[in-house]
Amino acid sequence: MKQYNNFFGDFGGRYVPEVLRGPLSELEEAYTNAIKDPDFLAELKDFQKTFIGRPTPLLHAENATKTLGGADIYIKLEGLANTGAHKINNAAGQALLAKRMGKKRVIAETGAGQHGVATASACAKLGLDCVIYMGTEDIRRQRPNVYWMELFGAEVRGVNSGSCTLKDAVNEAFRDWTASYKDTHYLLGSALGPSPYPDMVREFQSVIGNEVVTQTEDIKIDAMVACVGGGSNAIGFFSPFIEKDKPRLIGVEAGGRGKGAGNNAVRMDDSGKLGIVQGYKSYFLLDDDGQVQPTHSISAGLDYPGIGPQLASLGESGRIEFQSATDKDALEALKFFASTEGIIFAMESAHAGAAAIQLAKDLGKGRNIIVNMSGRGDKDLFISAAALYGDKWKEFLEEEAKRI
Ligand SMILES: *Cc1c(COP(=O)(O)O)cnc(C)c1O
Repeated sequence: MKQYNNFFGDFGGRYVPEVLRGPLSELEEAYTNAIKDPDFLAELKDFQKTFIGRPTPLLHAENATKTLGGADIYIKLEGLANTGAHKINNAAGQALLAKRMGKKRVIAETGAGQHGVATASACAKLGLDCVIYMGTEDIRRQRPNVYWMELFGAEVRGVNSGSCTLKDAVNEAFRDWTASYKDTHYLLGSALGPSPYPDMVREFQSVIGNEVVTQTEDIKIDAMVACVGGGSNAIGFFSPFIEKDKPRLIGVEAGGRGKGAGNNAVRMDDSGKLGIVQGYKSYFLLDDDGQVQPTHSISAGLDYPGIGPQLASLGESGRIEFQSATDKDALEALKFFASTEGIIFAMESAHAGAAAIQLAKDLGKGRNIIVNMSGRGDKDLFISAAALYGDKWKEFLEEEAKRI
């Protein structure tokens, strides 16, 4: 098969309406120049250090390791980054690039609101106008994040079309960009979409993996584990190891309530179909008409119907192994690491935690696993407490509502 530019094997590309070819070429050129420019790299590095709080620590989870009696588990604490997750690495990088390109306004899509919060935060710091598109269904489910975005000075625009969720917000953001690209940057939130986004997002997220390289100089890594929604935390975490044949790289998808269409967001087993959606070719969960199917996960960040093209390609070649963890597995992992290590995994990251628990037992003593805690779980309070704290949580909410 002929290899075209901007593809990863058969995946990726730039399938956009004619009007967006110009803006994407301009972005590709600006990004390609910036990433080679020592001034930009120095500015990025300083921003990572002073604003994001990098490097994030690598925690040796000794209690968890001892309790499980298997391989040693190390946890990369991306949850300690400003705004609570890895999303800020990409948001900050692209916001700096937007500024360098002379753009005054930034637009972004958001699903659960995490990418919206990270983008609004970076824009506040850099003095850029910020508009976030968010499905009205997601606004209803994720109200606290709307509050944070507005506090950062962003305008949150509700999207009332389709299923009123993430994919509809992406469509609306592209629609805006079609008319506004002269002064506006579209800050896409994961390692997907039309080229150059998958490359650019991986590059800004590769800071995670590059820090792991330095932090594990004395450790022989046997396996690395990350959760996969669109794939940005995973590809950034794996990035410096992809070209090598070790360690094992394991991506964990959302197994949701279990098997069956609509119950999960597993694309990398036989469920995913090759398709072209929102500007790129990859595996998607599609119905018989080729329309995007509904998904489910307890974690709002993993219930996306498509997977980033580079991950799809690396899954196909076998360099990255894919597994899944259910909602229940993730809740168990959340409890386990909270009680043994004193840290709160985001629901998304807890899927990687669940896979690491099983892997530690399978690999046995003397081996080392690094798991990426892509975010911290404060944001999931309303979901995890409802699931784990039962009536006490309901009572509390009812009392609070009375007091307002
Ligand atoms: C958004 C999000 C994810 C999923 O997105 P990726 O692009 O797959 O990384 C995972 N973890 C957290 C904490 C998130 O906020």
